[in-house]
Amino acid sequence: MKQRFVTIQILCLCLISSTLLLTGCDTVPISGRRQLNYVPDSYINSMSFDSYREFLSKSKVSTDPKGTAMVKRVGENIQKAVERYFEMENQSELLEGYEWEFNLVDDPAANAWAMAGGKVVVYTGLLKIAKTDEQLAVVVGHEIAHAVARHGSERLSQQLIYTFGGVALDKALEDQPGKTKELIMTAYGAGGQYGVLLPYSRLHETEADHLGMIFMALAGYNPEAAVSFWENMSANNKGKEPPEFLSTHPSHSTRIEKIKEFMPKAMFYYTGKPR
Ligand SMILES: [Zn+2]
Repeated sequence: MKQRFVTIQILCLCLISSTLLLTGCDTVPISGRRQLNYVPDSYINSMSFDSYREFLSKSKVSTDPKGTAMVKRVGENIQKAVERYFEMENQSELLEGYEWEFNLVDDPAANAWAMAGGKVVVYTGLLKIAKTDEQLAVVVGHEIAHAVARHGSERLSQQLIYTFGGVALDKALEDQPGKTKELIMTAYGAGGQYGVLLPYSRLHETEADHLGMIFMALAGYNPEAAVSFWENMSANNKGKEPPEFLSTHPSHSTRIEKIKEFMPKAMFYYTGKPR
């Protein structure tokens, strides 16, 4: 009798999980990949906006006018290009609720990250490597791509299913608000301040490179800068401990190889004709 009860429970859990898997599927724009996502944007964005505000209040936002202007200029140019693109594709709803923001924070690490809903941070250490707008556009395009492709929500959905066995998000929040919040914070973790930063998968990184190159091209930045930027990064880090941004990312040679594969498509968006 007891065993039968357990079997029914497992069966129910599987049904719930598969319902979630079936209903919680989105398609990533441009790459066309199907992704698991059952975390509502409204929910994740409000968490993200709060965390971003908190991060900025505890960090030293750069007072360097040149660097700050560069980050905002490049960020806003790509943001507008992405908005125009989705408008043309009749997919503006994909960016609904986004509140784009680009801030430069004083930190020697060559790092950058993005939170859900379009909150981006670049560290001053990165500007030592990305010296031109085009080179910075490689990184900012990549971060914008993580936000647009909802990689954080996908990772969080996977974590929630893994941790709560397919229980709906509302239920998880109601039963274990602390645990759920902790998961969300780590899924969107902004480095050490918020605990362990879960590395993006290789798949997400490659997809962010792919979309990022197209986004920078749409904004009028030559995507060929991606190759020289990653070569600079590689040269800069020879013999040194890789910064966090890099340690969770693919090796430079693998990345550059993939970037070259995406180049003809990105150049099409840049020049309007394939090369
Ligand atoms: Zn990334």
